[in-house]
Amino acid sequence: MATTANKDYYAILGVKKTATQEEIRKAFRKAARKYHPDVNPGDKKAEEKFKEISEANDILSDEKKRKVYDQLGFYSDQIDPAQAEAYARQQAAGGTGRVDFDGFDFSGFTGAGGGQPGTGSSGWGSFKDIFSGIFSGAQHPERPHGPQPGTDLEYQATVDFWTAIRGGQTRIQIHRQETCPTCHGQAFTGGPMPCPECNGSGQVTQMGGRMKFNIPCPRCNGTGRISNACPTCHGEGTVSKPETVEFRIKPGTRDGQRIRLQGKGNAGVNGGPAGDLFLIVRTGAHPVFTRVGDDIQVMVPVTVPEASLGAKVEVPTIDGRAQLKIPPGTQSGQKLRMRERGVENAQHPEQRGDQIVTVQVAVPHLNDERSREIMRELGKLNPQDPRTALFEKL
Ligand SMILES: [Zn+2]
Ligand SMILES: [Zn+2]
Repeated sequence: MATTANKDYYAILGVKKTATQEEIRKAFRKAARKYHPDVNPGDKKAEEKFKEISEANDILSDEKKRKVYDQLGFYSDQIDPAQAEAYARQQAAGGTGRVDFDGFDFSGFTGAGGGQPGTGSSGWGSFKDIFSGIFSGAQHPERPHGPQPGTDLEYQATVDFWTAIRGGQTRIQIHRQETCPTCHGQAFTGGPMPCPECNGSGQVTQMGGRMKFNIPCPRCNGTGRISNACPTCHGEGTVSKPETVEFRIKPGTRDGQRIRLQGKGNAGVNGGPAGDLFLIVRTGAHPVFTRVGDDIQVMVPVTVPEASLGAKVEVPTIDGRAQLKIPPGTQSGQKLRMRERGVENAQHPEQRGDQIVTVQVAVPHLNDERSREIMRELGKLNPQDPRTALFEKL
C-alpha cells in the first residue's frame, strides 16, 4: 500500500481518535474475529470489511503511520511523520487554498510560511518536498504482474483416539484458493479500458485536512487505464473451493502436532507456486484411557482383599487385556507402572511409552450379618489409626 484513500480508520475500527494502542488492538481483534474470511467463507461483504479493518489496523497500530494519517487524513509511505507535521504547520499558518499538484500551483502558500519559491528552506519549498514522493513513488502497476506464490493455510484436524495411536489415513475438508479456471490465474481478461475510479484521467482528488489536492489514482496508479477483471474471480486470479484432503497419520501422533502438506495451500497467481497446508492435529479422547504424551493412564478398581493380600488382576491396555501384579498392601490412589505398554513414539517407533495404572480400592457394601461380623473382627485385629500421621504433621 503506497497511498491510502481518504477513510475514517477510527470509525472503521469503532475507536476514539484518542484511543490507546491497546484499545486499537482490542477493537481490531474483536472486528477481525467477526469478519475473518475463515469465519465467513464465500461472503464477499465480510471479506471487504475484513480488508478495510485490516487496513485501518495497519495504519493505526503503527505510531509512525498513525501520525501521518492524523495530520493528513490519509496515509502515504512517501511521507514521514516529520514531513506530515511540517505540512500541518503550513496549513495552520494559513494555507487554506486548493493546491493543484498537477501544475505545481502553490500560490496558496507563498508568503504564508515566510519562504520564497525555490529556496527550499521553508515555505512552499519544503511543502513541495513533502509531497513530491507521491508522484515519484507510486508507480506500481495496478497489481503485481509477476508470479506470486500462494499463501499457506492452517487447519485443525481432529483425529480419533485410535487413529492417533495406531496411525492411518484420514481426511479433512478445507477451503482453498485454486487457480481460476476462466482466466487461468491471469486475473484479467480482455484489454485495458478507462479506469472507472478516475474516469481515465489518472488523477483523483484527496482531502488533506482542509485542503484538496490531486494525487495519482490509487486504482490505476495514475495510468488512467485498467484491464478487465476476470468475471469469475473478480481479478483475484484464484477462486475459493472446498476440497477434501486425505493425509496420513503416523502411529503415535500427539495432540497439537503439526503436519505440513506441501503445495496443498492456496494456489499462486500468474504461475507462482502454491502455498503449504499446515494441519494441527487434535486427538480425540477415550472413555477408559487417557493419553499423556506417549503414556497411557488408566484407573483400575481392585477389591479390598486384592489390595490387602496382593493379587494378579486383568487390566485393559491399548493392546488388549494384560496381567498386572497388585502388591500386598496397595493403597487406593497408588500408581503402578506397566513399562512399554503405552503408545509407540511417532519419531522413534522402537520406543514406547508406559501405562500408568491408578489403583482404586472398591469398598464392598456388606449386606449380610456374617460379612459385617468378619469386618468388625478384622477391625479389632488391626487397630492401627490411619489418621495418626495427619496429626503428627500439625
Ligand atoms: Zn484510475
Ligand atoms: Zn479469473
